[in-house]
Amino acid sequence: MDRQYIASLGLEPVLDAVLSGKRLTIGQGQALFDCPDPHVPAALAAHARKRLHGDRVHYVVNRHVNPTNVCVNRCRFCAYRRDEGQEGAYVLTPDEALAKLREAGAVDEVHIVGGCHPSLGLDYYEDLAARVRAAYPKASIKALTAVEVDHLAKLSGVSIREVLERLKASGVDMLPGGGAEIFADAPRKALCPEKIGGEAWLSVMAEAHGVGLRTNATMLFGHLETTRHRLEHMDALRRQQDATGGFVCFIPLPYLPGNNPLGEEARGPSAMDVLRTMAVSRLMLDNIPHIKAYWVMLGLKLSQLCLSWGADDLDGTVVEEKIGHEAGSDSAQALSIADLEDAIRSSGFTPVRRDGLFREA
Ligand code: SF4
Repeated sequence: MDRQYIASLGLEPVLDAVLSGKRLTIGQGQALFDCPDPHVPAALAAHARKRLHGDRVHYVVNRHVNPTNVCVNRCRFCAYRRDEGQEGAYVLTPDEALAKLREAGAVDEVHIVGGCHPSLGLDYYEDLAARVRAAYPKASIKALTAVEVDHLAKLSGVSIREVLERLKASGVDMLPGGGAEIFADAPRKALCPEKIGGEAWLSVMAEAHGVGLRTNATMLFGHLETTRHRLEHMDALRRQQDATGGFVCFIPLPYLPGNNPLGEEARGPSAMDVLRTMAVSRLMLDNIPHIKAYWVMLGLKLSQLCLSWGADDLDGTVVEEKIGHEAGSDSAQALSIADLEDAIRSSGFTPVRRDGLFREA
């Protein structure tokens, strides 16, 4: 990194903070978003990434199960939800969910998310998790977003803590990071008015960390938000992480404008915006160990580039993905282990197979 050149762009304090491992301010994050030369955030993020992970890039052998697409909410970016009784609406029985899992063979992680169904209560998810645990005693079970947990607490008339404790007792290890979208009130209300607010999302995650569950965290970007909103989102996450310490991985998700009510009101981020957001995420989130380039939403080639812009994880084999594909993702439904390892090696990194908690598998 050429100090003189970086200084000429007004970013010498950012360079010094990154080199000394000091936390960046929101203003410094903004300077990285605004920097006319995108190679500067790229180089700084590559440095931070290398310090944490060397040349390792993680992937997971996993299977997604989406128990239902019926949802009481109507998020405007969502192409997945259906009303009860609407054509295409479905609910999987636990047996059907298990049968889908078996198609995938051995997996190191099971990822379970779906809609907020109006009558599918906590008992259903406890039963499903217990059966998955019995069938896959060693796999990480990552189940139910903070939004689904909040919904289940209200539907079943119990506290959020009780939902989390019962899920954990049924075999759940961690919560996925979905439902965070963007925390800032104005774009959040415009995108998903019925969904719990940013503070409530963080509070469910704090409770989850408190009962010993680990969680991921996401951010949906490239819609109605500003780069300042993205930075505030990252800042809220890192402050939560300082307090409760349970976030494992951050996943910046690009808005996909297909088949949803928001549609072309927002276009989704450009490839360069994705790369820059990946880099800024790595640099701002000094206390969250992993940054994921989720190939299902980004496409494999852009995800490979993200590995040189701060990301250290590509996610997994997946097998069947509904949520991003209904919104227009044109990536494959699944990748083999060889596909993922080739993608990582051909990007100049060393593949490391992991489970949901990033333990080597
Ligand atoms: S994003 Fe989730 S909560 Fe929102 S409508 Fe879609 S399924 Fe429901």
